[in-house]
Amino acid sequence: MPSRLEPGLSRIVLRRGDITADASADAIVNAANRSLLGGGGVDGAIHRAAGPALLAECRLLGGCDTGDAKITGAGLLPVRHVIHTVGPVWRGGAHGEPGLLASCYVRSVEVGAAAGCAVLAFPAISCGVYGYPLDAAAQVSVEALATALTQHADVREARFWLFSEEAYAAFDRVLAQLGATR
Ligand code: ADP
Repeated sequence: MPSRLEPGLSRIVLRRGDITADASADAIVNAANRSLLGGGGVDGAIHRAAGPALLAECRLLGGCDTGDAKITGAGLLPVRHVIHTVGPVWRGGAHGEPGLLASCYVRSVEVGAAAGCAVLAFPAISCGVYGYPLDAAAQVSVEALATALTQHADVREARFWLFSEEAYAAFDRVLAQLGATR
């Protein structure tokens, strides 16, 4: 039986490693904080690789709400855009975290599609300092991304860059469980 998550599900790809090494995506998604003025983790890595031009552009955006996404150029990164999205801080799971995390993926795909991006690269949003449990985040993230891709046929591929073996395994399990054909 075709899943309600198809055809988006089959356009999701997993990669292991550093998202800033991705030179073939059109946009890299940044797990930012609400200030959009840089931080640690993947945010720090993206700003280091992009150089000061990215921060200068971010300063003009006036921050970003949790669950929303905003797009800029990519400075020195070898892609066209960075999409800055703000994941929820995990506070036990009863404070709207799943809906806010899902919204990060939906808004990132919307903003990327509107800018003509066909290939998007995502980190595991909220899975670092923001403390979202990996298995729960993987479930929400894959489902939300597959749903968003199903609604945006012009985004031909979305790849998750998973930094750790553990994160890769969690996302891989969810894809297998949902019956993704890869
Ligand atoms: P958040 O604040 O949303 O939790 P973090 O940057 O702390 O964001 O972590 C999000 C995820 O990104 C974590 O799984 C972390 O291991 C991973 N990560 C950190 N640096 C990189 C990188 N350079 N490329 C890809 N993933 C990264």
